[in-house]
Amino acid sequence: MKQKNADGGRKPDLSRHINLRARPVARILAAVAVAVVVAVGGAVFASPARSQSILRDTETEFFFRDLALPVYEAAGVDTERLRLFVDAEPSINAFVTASHIIVLSAGLVQRAADPSDLLGVIAHETGHIAAGHHLATAEAALYAERQFLLSAALGVVLAGAIGNPTALGAAGAAGTEISQKGLLAHSRAHEQAADQAAVNYLAAAERSPVGILRVMRYLEEQENLSIEVNPYLRTHPISSERVSFLEGALERSAYADVAPSAEEMETLRRIKAKLAAYLDPDDFHRRYPAADVSVAARYGRAVANWREGKLRECVALLRELIAEEPDNPYFHEFLGQVLFTAGRAEESAASYREAVRLLPDAPLLRLGWAAALLEQRSPRADKVALRQLSLVNDARESPGVALRLTNIAETRQGSTGRATLALAELRLIEGRLGEAAVLAQRALRELSEQEQASRLRAMDLLAVIGDQTDENDDENDESPPLR
Ligand SMILES: [Zn+2]
Repeated sequence: MKQKNADGGRKPDLSRHINLRARPVARILAAVAVAVVVAVGGAVFASPARSQSILRDTETEFFFRDLALPVYEAAGVDTERLRLFVDAEPSINAFVTASHIIVLSAGLVQRAADPSDLLGVIAHETGHIAAGHHLATAEAALYAERQFLLSAALGVVLAGAIGNPTALGAAGAAGTEISQKGLLAHSRAHEQAADQAAVNYLAAAERSPVGILRVMRYLEEQENLSIEVNPYLRTHPISSERVSFLEGALERSAYADVAPSAEEMETLRRIKAKLAAYLDPDDFHRRYPAADVSVAARYGRAVANWREGKLRECVALLRELIAEEPDNPYFHEFLGQVLFTAGRAEESAASYREAVRLLPDAPLLRLGWAAALLEQRSPRADKVALRQLSLVNDARESPGVALRLTNIAETRQGSTGRATLALAELRLIEGRLGEAAVLAQRALRELSEQEQASRLRAMDLLAVIGDQTDENDDENDESPPLR
């Protein structure tokens, strides 16, 4: 199903709707709750490098997705479920959750010699998915999933919409650790099977297995030196047999010398610079000296300047980059973010609007636009914001902050029932089932007969909450309050 977009008549493909009725409960919650986001404003988040939180960033996620798509197709796994995220973990790590979400660490991205390394790791994780390894011990997988969702619920937007800094404080204090013990450790047999599968998928995608070999060699060295135990090694045991298998595969591969495209190389350069700058501005300046005037370095420098509160320098750099690449949605997106934090809501909305025009298929960009519109506090802007938020909420990886903003916008419009419904959904995502049930029931009383779609949604929520409550009664009470 496609929805007509209010701005400029484009039809964004935000068609991966959450169909509450059609899915088993565990998957619903995963679908609703994955990467629920508390957005971050500038300096509020003091040291994200140490926390293992999901960083939401459209440019990074689209890049991963483009890399993964041929591998997913080769593996015969459902590309509709394809979701990949980056987290703030500084060491090399990658894992797959029970609902097929692949997470790559910022450390892995930073260390990637070229996109083949990421592609190789994605292919390996896809091997685990295709073989059903993540389902091998369902209980462990479910536990890992819950830990992941909690972590994702507290994730941060790298260059997206801004939430409420007070709320962020509460969420940040609660911690965003993905519990390592919750992650499913794969057996050596599973690892070999996943490597074998990865090699097959890469061949089908006509890509070189050099990347996965490079990553494995590096990890094997680390293991031998035992400088520190890498988190990846705890869940994916490395052995010399695995490395020699991959060496043989590279020798036999018809695509051993196929290099990533120039565009892929450049995108990775930019993402690396952006991540480095976001996670550690000081370190970024050391690694990207001022003499480096490549696009990637200036892009990263703009992010570092923003983190350091140097907004004038940051905006000047971004305007320069936009002049060079006016059709790059991510430059507009980031400028929108920066202007928003500077309290320049109207200019921010204009930047986000341009980003959305250039890339209609990206919920986080719409979320940023909606946030900037709501900040203008005019009924007209609120209406446009609500249209954007409805598209975001229908997207599968909708962040929780979109529901918060929907609650605010609907309240301002006087749509009490829909405001309450948004809050009920938010509480469900947070795992606060009791409150969610009370709110969903209240929404049903408040919604008029004409608001049929919302009424159905409220009833679906109640059904999901009922099932969840049966499954576990009191495990979800520790999620932090968002307001
Ligand atoms: Zn593995």
